Amino acid sequence: MVSAGEALERLRNGNARFAANMTSSVTLISHSQRAALAGGQQPFAIILGCSDSRVPAEIVFDQGLGDLFVIRVAGNIVAPSQVGSVEFAAARFDTRLVVVLGHSQCGAIIATLEELQRPTENQSRNLAAIVDRVRPSVEGLLKTNLRHDRQALIMEGVRANIRASVDHLRHGSQVLEQLIQEEGLHVVGAEYSLETGRVEFL
Ligand SMILES: [Zn+2]
Repeated sequence: MVSAGEALERLRNGNARFAANMTSSVTLISHSQRAALAGGQQPFAIILGCSDSRVPAEIVFDQGLGDLFVIRVAGNIVAPSQVGSVEFAAARFDTRLVVVLGHSQCGAIIATLEELQRPTENQSRNLAAIVDRVRPSVEGLLKTNLRHDRQALIMEGVRANIRASVDHLRHGSQVLEQLIQEEGLHVVGAEYSLETGRVEFL
């Protein structure tokens, strides 16, 4: 079993390679292990990331087949099916690190801020389900001076939303709470910069 600390180290190192335009040979070799992996998996980290095409977890952390258990949803929000996916992987594969990976200029955050400032009529209920999950973490920001600075507002919104998802995973599931208290499961937030390629752990 890979501890949370060791898993974090692997992710940090992998992202440093990615940001420097390098790929490790271990990552490349993993493609040839497809057949061996058919018998089972032991992902060392669980990533709850955004669906944004520019933030594929395996690539930005330079990891190969079988390394990461990845859940992607617009705005890296936490709804019951995301909690269930994390519970499943943590309980079944003994994975000890969960990373909520948000990113700069996240469209789901921008859409939520726009919706709060200028509500649209007849918004799709399905889209509203995402906006409604992001809303509680960003609407307070619109009451501060940040509302005059669009870029700062988006940046703070992204971080507030990451923190909200981390909180939700830490406290919104008995299974995960128990794994945190008794088995060394860690849930951490991280932000990927589209501009630099670097992931900052919060
Ligand atoms: Zn996004």
